[in-house]
This record gives sequence, structure tokens and C-alpha cells, in this order.
Amino acid sequence: MKPETIAAQALGWIDAATGAISPPIAMSTTFERDPDNAYSTGRAYVRADNPAFDQPERVLAALEGGAAAMLFSSGMAAASACFLSLRSGDHVVFPKVMYWGLRRWILDFARDFGLAFDAVDTTRPEALADALQPGRTKLVWIETPANPTWEVTDIAAAAELAHEAGALLAVDSTVATPALTRPLALGADIVMHSATKYLNGHSDLAMGALVAATESDAWARLRDVRSHQGAIPGSFEAWLLLRGMRTLFPRVRLASANAMTLAERFDGDRRLEAVIYPGLAGHPGHEIAARQMTGAFGGMLSIRVKGGAEAAIAAAAKVKVFKRATSLGGPESLIEHRASVEGEGSPAPADLLRLSAGLEDVEDLFSDLDQALG
Ligand code: PLP
Repeated sequence: MKPETIAAQALGWIDAATGAISPPIAMSTTFERDPDNAYSTGRAYVRADNPAFDQPERVLAALEGGAAAMLFSSGMAAASACFLSLRSGDHVVFPKVMYWGLRRWILDFARDFGLAFDAVDTTRPEALADALQPGRTKLVWIETPANPTWEVTDIAAAAELAHEAGALLAVDSTVATPALTRPLALGADIVMHSATKYLNGHSDLAMGALVAATESDAWARLRDVRSHQGAIPGSFEAWLLLRGMRTLFPRVRLASANAMTLAERFDGDRRLEAVIYPGLAGHPGHEIAARQMTGAFGGMLSIRVKGGAEAAIAAAAKVKVFKRATSLGGPESLIEHRASVEGEGSPAPADLLRLSAGLEDVEDLFSDLDQALG
């Protein structure tokens, strides 16, 4: 089956007991032991085994072309599990431009666990190669396209370099989604999603996910991290994710088309310093994005407003259709002055507004932004 069909039918499962097309929600936190003291169902306790996760995890693994997937209680829980699964003394390479929350967590917390780090420009393979310490580097973390300036990292090149050094490559593919990029097919070992965003797609659920290329020892350790650390979502949330993923492809395609139209129409606008979108030929990562993203460039773009932070914040204050809010990947378009969110040390330019193009009529979005820019 094509990924579109897998998503729309959630792998086509029908509930054996009732014939239901939408699965019942398994709520039990514990499972009965057999009289001979075994667990013949393979399940003992919810933190390790929740049947409510089975179908969404298998759908996501199928969409990513992976061997297995794991749901977490948030994107941050999924991402931090990758770092928590390492050992003191291990070295990690991560991008200079990335989701600010994870960068802050790495710098504020993960350093104290005894991990060593280098932040590099992962869009330059030679910079990545220089930072790798063969034998000691255990994880290369990349995000593509990366918040909030949509830098594009060549996944295949990063995978080759990481593997040469004996490290795993993990890709935060939240923005691309499996509808547009399949990092595992390009050589990545682990894909991470903030499922809070496009995978669920309705701004009403916090969740994270990891997907593995193979069920390796590293994956088994990640399973242990989730089970013992306990960052699991609830059963209802897992059911909501399954529902959301069914419409992933049409949502991502419409959001991408809206983003492309906005980027093209505002590119060169005299009120803007720049429009930043990997779909524009002038974007430094356009060529790689065109190679590793299939059919579209995603729903995220940024604009830099002439006049600095003040002018950018003033423009955001005037929107009527866009909503002034953080996050991305929902049905409604969002606008946000990114430097205000990220605070000190942020690489986000002071005049940058991050836009999450939603599923509205693009003319409503265009005229709203046009009047807001004045
Ligand atoms: N990765 C990216 C690219 C994100 O945009 C976010 C959230 O904004 C995260 C990770 C963290 O995910 P969550 O908010 O679900 O913890």
C-alpha cells in the first residue's frame, strides 16, 4: 500500500470483537498474570506495554518505513530520551540552529549528566566531519528543515559521516513529516517527531514519537528509558493521534501549498528584509530540500520585517486571520515573533516572524498578512 492509503486507513485494521473501523480505546493500566505465573499476553503494566499504542505506533512506523515506533508524552520527552539513553562521557553533535527548547535542555540539563557536546552548522558536511570524534561520538542530532530559519541538512550525507564515526544519526523530522521526507530511507537510524504538530494536526494534543530503522540494542535501551522514566502518553491521546494521522497527507499538502503561495507572493516585498522558505529557489538549502523532500516544502516559513523587532511585533499585533501563538502544524495559521519566545542566546534574527501556514483559504491568509504589514 502507498503511504497515503496506510495513513487514511490507519493500516486498515478492523476490531476483531466488534467490527469497528475506529478502534476502541484500551484503558487498562495492568494485565492479568497466568496461573503458571507467566504473562502469555506479553503485557504486564501500562508503562511498558499499552495496547492503545499498538496501532498508532505501527501506522507511524509504516509511514516512516521503520521497524518500530514508540509514543512519548511530548516531543521533548521523545527527544530527551535519545540523550538519556547515552552514557556519561559520550559525545554528541547537534545543530547550532534547532528547536530552541531542546537546545536549552541540552545546555541546561544534559551537560550535567556527563555528556560532551559540540554545536555545529550541520548544513555544512565539512563542519560536521570536523566535530565528530570517531569512537566517542555516539549521537548526531539534526533537524531539517530547522526552526526558525528552515536550514536544510543533507540527511544522507550526515548519515554517512555519523556512521563512519560509529555514531547514530537521529533526525527531528517534525516539520517535514513522513508525508514529505523519509529520513530512514536516507540512512538515518532514528526519526523523532513532536506529534503535537503535524502528525496530530489539530492543536489539541501533546505527544512525541521516535521511529527506529531497526530494532537494535540502542532501540531496546530507548524502550527501557521510556518504560522506567515513564514519559508515556495516555490511551485517549494515542487514539487521538491515530485519528489525526489519517488526514496527514491532505493536511500537509494544503499547508505546504499555502506556505508556497505566501512565500512566492511576499518574496521581494519592499516591506520585508527577507522571506525564508526552503521552497524558494533563493533559499540556501533549496537544492537539497528539493532532493530529499517529496513534492512540497512544508507549511513553515519565516519573514523578516524591515524596521527590526519593533516593526515585526507591530505587524504581528495587526493580524486578524492568523493567530498570535506558538506551535505549528495545526489547521489554523499561526504567527509568532520568535526572538521573544527564545530569549537570550537565540540565533533567531530580531526582526523574524515565524509563520505556520494552516488550512485556510490562501487569499484570506495573504490579505491578512498584507494589511498587517501596512
Ligand atoms: N521539535 C520541534 C521541531 C518542535 O517544533 C517542537 C515543539 O515546538 C519540539 C521538538 C518539542 O515538541 P513538544 O512541544 O511536543 O514537546
